[in-house]
Amino acid sequence: MKVAIMGAGLSGLACAIILERNGIIPTIFESRKEVDDRFVNGEIFLDALNAPIEDAFAYLSNEFQIYLQPVGHIKKLIIYSENEQAITTGDLGFNVARGRREDSLCKQLLNQLNTEIVYNSKHTYEELLKEFTHIVVATGDGAYSEKMGNYKRDFTVSLKGAIVEGEFDRYTTKTWLDNTFAPSGYTYLIPLSNTEANIVIAYPDYQKSNRLDGNVLWENFFTRVQRDLKQTLKITDGFEIAEYIIGHCNKPRIGNTFFVGNCYGAIMPFLGFGQFPAIMTGIYAAYDLCGKGNYEKLVKNLNKSYENALVLRKAMEKLDNKKFDILVRNLNGFVGNTLLDYKKIDFLNVISNILKPIINTDVKNNKNLEDD
Ligand SMILES: Cc1cc2nc3c(=O)[nH]c(=O)nc-3n(C[C@H](O)[C@H](O)[C@H](O)COP(=O)(O)OP(=O)(O)OC[C@H]3O[C@@H](n4cnc5c(N)ncnc54)[C@H](O)[C@@H]3O)c2cc1C
Repeated sequence: MKVAIMGAGLSGLACAIILERNGIIPTIFESRKEVDDRFVNGEIFLDALNAPIEDAFAYLSNEFQIYLQPVGHIKKLIIYSENEQAITTGDLGFNVARGRREDSLCKQLLNQLNTEIVYNSKHTYEELLKEFTHIVVATGDGAYSEKMGNYKRDFTVSLKGAIVEGEFDRYTTKTWLDNTFAPSGYTYLIPLSNTEANIVIAYPDYQKSNRLDGNVLWENFFTRVQRDLKQTLKITDGFEIAEYIIGHCNKPRIGNTFFVGNCYGAIMPFLGFGQFPAIMTGIYAAYDLCGKGNYEKLVKNLNKSYENALVLRKAMEKLDNKKFDILVRNLNGFVGNTLLDYKKIDFLNVISNILKPIINTDVKNNKNLEDD
């Protein structure tokens, strides 16, 4: 068996680690000159989205001996709307660093791997087909899956972010639901330390959003963040991403090609959370290759989460600022704590089942707000 892994990101590295430990040495191709050689940003693991797994890092460590450290665990989540705020406390998840930092998540995975990586790779999937018996496609986007007709693109998202200096509580993450700066989307602040944080606006590229000026949205957001934090923030770095694809494969595997991470659609369209499912699909593909499991069966639950998260997203997109105020007011305290800190129920499943009959959005036909 000759296994190629295309992409040394979360899913590709997780797959490589498990393969290597089971005696299969893959060839790993990475297009960048080193792992995580990209802009710095903060991302979160939200435990409520992974039920019944209560703690993603403990689970990865106990079940798969994959050891990850956050830049801080999330003790408090503050959700702001135009006029309200909700504070939720508990052991809610983890803040992690991505990109060019020694503590970045992919660097942590790399440190657990012995196999050398082929950097600056220009090899196409089609070239690898000739040389390898099995290919794990882990390039972080749906491009190959789409090219092979194995992918349903649901929407794309524009993101603009910055690293800011100021004073932060590294255990408190903040998010804003406000259509004036993130139409049908959301914004957030993830601390990377007590003096550095990542702030981001993310909104879907519907026609309505395209008519908006991203710089104006950003200025509105930046003003609001500084107002809520009661401090002047200094921007030290920034990034912009256009048309970040959110979609899903029809089949997790075709022949001896496995689609993992974002290539598979291991992402929750609700808030774009994909780190934990990316790692899990990498592990599951490796299990299949080692004869320890069946990839299609192992990813079945992830498909369900995707569909549920899409329902939730479509419902959220219908909320104006007044409704966000009502939602946030109701999330304050007990309700928010119960939903986000009680990890035994599948939060996405429960909420999406409540919402399905209420919203008249046809998810299957990818009907969006603009069509209404
Ligand atoms: C700004 C932003 C914020 C996010 N926030 C969160 C969050 O808070 N929580 C969360 O859970 N998720 C978040 N996500 C999503 C999360 O980052 C992804 O779901 C996850 O990284 C996907 O893992 P992956 O293995 O599929 O891809 P990646 O980790 O992106 O790895 C793909 C790798 O493949 C390499 N590559 C690309 N093309 C080729 C090629 N042709 N040949 C070889 N190598 C190639 C790339 O260089 C890269 O190293 C966020 C995403 C973005 C963009």
